[in-house]
Amino acid sequence: MSACTFCRIVAGEIPSTRVYENDRVLAFMDIGQVNPGHVLVAVKRHAENLYALAADDAAAVARASLAVAQAIRAAFAPAGLSVYQANGAAAGQTVFHYHVHLVPRREGDGMELAWPVQNPPRAALETHAAAIRSALAQLQGE
Ligand SMILES: [Zn+2]
Repeated sequence: MSACTFCRIVAGEIPSTRVYENDRVLAFMDIGQVNPGHVLVAVKRHAENLYALAADDAAAVARASLAVAQAIRAAFAPAGLSVYQANGAAAGQTVFHYHVHLVPRREGDGMELAWPVQNPPRAALETHAAAIRSALAQLQGE
């Protein structure tokens, strides 16, 4: 038996309220329900976070998220929808099995994400971008 809560949900060892699934993805109701219609879209094959995700599973989560988001909109007509995904405790990840939150939103619902912009000079953006481009070239060259 896996120690991972979401692997146990996928296996049916822990009950969940399912809304959609295919061979790669399971979408189920978040028990916390920040707002009615709050759904989690998780990979079935365990991956701790985005970095560990297989490309095909990433594509499957994106496709399922799109379909379920459209269904949430049709069913609940929220004023907005937040797509939230955290990697690492510092980012707020609490279940270490890759998943995406689809959170229907309304004005004044109390869900907040601080966004402390720093507006660095353009030169800093260029330096940061160069570091990322370099890493991409190295990773894609592997
Ligand atoms: Zn897992």
